[in-house]
Amino acid sequence: MTARLLDGKAAGARLRAALGARVAGLGFRPGLRVVRVGDDPASVVYVRSKDRAAKEAGFDSETILLPEDVPEDGLLEVVRRLNADPAVDGILVQLPLPKHIDPQRVLEAVDPAKDVDGFHPVNAGRLAAGLPGLVPCTPKGVMHLLAKAGVALSGARAVVLGRSAIVGRPMAALLLAADATVTMLHSRSRDIAEECRRAEVLVAAVGREAMVRGDWIAPGAVVVDVGINRRADGKLAGDVEFEAARERAGWITPVPGGVGPMTIACLLENTLEAALARRGATELQPNGGVAEEHATPEESYGHGPGLA
Ligand code: NAP
Repeated sequence: MTARLLDGKAAGARLRAALGARVAGLGFRPGLRVVRVGDDPASVVYVRSKDRAAKEAGFDSETILLPEDVPEDGLLEVVRRLNADPAVDGILVQLPLPKHIDPQRVLEAVDPAKDVDGFHPVNAGRLAAGLPGLVPCTPKGVMHLLAKAGVALSGARAVVLGRSAIVGRPMAALLLAADATVTMLHSRSRDIAEECRRAEVLVAAVGREAMVRGDWIAPGAVVVDVGINRRADGKLAGDVEFEAARERAGWITPVPGGVGPMTIACLLENTLEAALARRGATELQPNGGVAEEHATPEESYGHGPGLA
């Protein structure tokens, strides 16, 4: 079997267009401020893409550039100013930060109501507790992709490989909220290959090129590859051995063109949600509102191993 592609490029474009249409009807432009410190090459590309996507969808987007040697207090002062600015609905401080700055202190300085990355402990805690809040963009984008493909998550065995605060943990929380049976794997886990083989839905977020071998994939499984790894030839590759996995999976995300574009679209979605919530127009939803999309899937891929 050759897997169907979970096309994040197309789904991300559709989501951005839908958000753009909503913004056009608002009567105000939600404000997004992305703060970039220094010139990390990947950050330069990501921040540019975020700003471009936001402007195209009609958001009031500005990038704030600070020098590599800005003191931590200087960055905190910028964050405080943005917290206090009524025109700003969403604040994102691009990671990684230079070594002399404590990223946790900076993330915790962002007003949780404007924390469109969903990294503030208040939002992380609200997600863990199933309460309304802003949800990290990458796992939220994965949930949108799974919903669009009609993947039935209720009761499904989902495996999340990686437990970072920005991907693995919130991913597991969202899958759990959608009633999946979730296993989390990390660098101390035993029998990783066997655990992956039991997965009906496998999300890989480790940052190791092709760590997930093709024969770790259960026939018919849904494979989501969050990994972005720069290969020696300069091309991007995921955490999954794509060609081999594709022959066994039911659905699979490409890298690039899978999760990445959904992440940017969800940043805009979070900014719109934050803008509406701050103005009292709508309330934030539990689990970013995405678990509910799975309540009525258009199509089910079935359950149990040997899905093909
Ligand atoms: P991270 O903070 O480095 O976390 C990696 C996780 O993988 C950790 O939990 C680590 O376990 C686990 N891990 C590492 N080596 C392992 C191994 N050999 N076996 C099992 N588990 C292992 O990375 P991240 O920020 O979550 O990002 C993961 C990947 O996703 C990266 O490639 C990143 O570039 C990509 N990413 C993509 C997007 C997107 O928009 N597409 C967004 C964010 C990140 P321990 O906790 O035990 O150390």
